Amino acid sequence: MLVDATGRSRWLGRLLGVDSPARSPRLLARYGYAEGTCPTRDAAPALVGTASGWTWTARVRPGTYQWTRLYLDGTPDGGWVPEEFQGLTATTPRGADVTWRLATETARPGWFMVGDAAATLDPTSSHGVLKALLSGMMAGHLIAAVLDGKAPAQEAAHAYHHWIAGWFRTDVVRLSAFYRDLGMAGFA
Ligand SMILES: Cc1cc2nc3c(=O)[nH]c(=O)nc-3n(C[C@H](O)[C@H](O)[C@H](O)COP(=O)(O)OP(=O)(O)OC[C@H]3O[C@@H](n4cnc5c(N)ncnc54)[C@H](O)[C@@H]3O)c2cc1C
Repeated sequence: MLVDATGRSRWLGRLLGVDSPARSPRLLARYGYAEGTCPTRDAAPALVGTASGWTWTARVRPGTYQWTRLYLDGTPDGGWVPEEFQGLTATTPRGADVTWRLATETARPGWFMVGDAAATLDPTSSHGVLKALLSGMMAGHLIAAVLDGKAPAQEAAHAYHHWIAGWFRTDVVRLSAFYRDLGMAGFA
């Protein structure tokens, strides 16, 4: 039994030619850290959205702050940091394609995809790590059932995909409403 937990690089999906089509407009995230003092961010994190994207800023530990900016249109400006962190010591920003994707098959007899390898949403879903953990646990549970002869491999794979796809669809409905409320185009 093989479990693919390679995240957005989707090693097994690419190897087997299992497609993972986009379920949202193209979403690009830039993120980085800043060190110093920013009293306005010490009390509470902030999520500020406009029709062109959103910015998340938060203190992650004393003297260290994190930011993420999601771009809905255009190419991100490589040197951009949130205004409130200008004057602080910033790390070089990194980028990630966080377009929503769900693999057309997330399991077959012999293998399971878990976490972002199976389904990806952008950070506003706010539970990508939880999903990675729970999908790994579910895959482990089903694999044990198959190896113990308690569940047919095909049915276990089917049940897993049904579970992942249902969770994904629920999140898509919720996130689409969030983006439509911000005035962003392209969310059904
Ligand atoms: C900017 C940003 C902010 C986010 N913020 C949050 C947040 O606040 N809360 C939250 O819950 N989620 C957040 N997420 C989402 C979260 O990071 C992911 O959903 C989660 O990390 C998925 O876990 P994973 O184990 O599936 O994949 P990953 O964490 O991506 O781990 C995959 C691992 O596999 C390794 N790997 C890849 N290819 C191979 C290979 N061929 N062989 C061996 N190893 C390989 C990689 O190096 C990596 O270590 C955020 C994502 C981004 C991009």
